[in-house]
Amino acid sequence: MNLFTQYLKDFFNLLFPDLCIVCNSHLVNQEDLICTKCLYDLPKTNYHKELDNPVSQLFWGRTKVEYATGFFTFSKGSDYQTMMHKFKYHGNKEIGYVLGKSFGNQIRNSVFNQVDVIIPVPLHKSKLKKRGYNQSEWIAKGLSEALLKPLDVKSFIRSVATETQTRKSRFDRWKNVENIFKITNENALRGKHVLLVDDVVTTGSTFEACANAILEIEDTKISIATLAVA
Ligand SMILES: [Zn+2]
Repeated sequence: MNLFTQYLKDFFNLLFPDLCIVCNSHLVNQEDLICTKCLYDLPKTNYHKELDNPVSQLFWGRTKVEYATGFFTFSKGSDYQTMMHKFKYHGNKEIGYVLGKSFGNQIRNSVFNQVDVIIPVPLHKSKLKKRGYNQSEWIAKGLSEALLKPLDVKSFIRSVATETQTRKSRFDRWKNVENIFKITNENALRGKHVLLVDDVVTTGSTFEACANAILEIEDTKISIATLAVA
């Protein structure tokens, strides 16, 4: 950016300041959507340092997962829950990218650097059309950039649209997502250690269904990264 555009940008910011999406304070130059303090204050889990953790334990006896982690936890009514809501339902897709990058920087020097490819939990095309973006893909973009691992959004898709999971029991959730995912390019995934990415984990049923579908391919391994743990 040359001096003149920087000047214009500063002037514009003076008139229309960018506000932190969590606390509404004015953002300074290097900050993007979320201020440094709110990023710092995120209730981080640090599960990447502790391999037997509440996220990995979700999959015990259900499917084979190498490593699993979540970036932060949030509680009902918290500012971070509002942030996740803006991210998922109000078009603020860049929040996923910013948090995904921060998440990636946190786990870059851990076992998670062993993965070969990053795959977001896919949305069905009807849902994608309605929402306009796949929120998990934006997190995966940020993770891919920080971890220096390729992103693949083509080889694995959701072939069946399902009803919303929110009001279902764990068994109903599992039944609801069983066999709804489809591999479209087996060769691209054979022999790969896949990092599956989603925005929130609750029961783990969606991750489980994705993992089971991918593990059908020879020599694949699955690890899991979720932005938030509910
Ligand atoms: Zn803030």
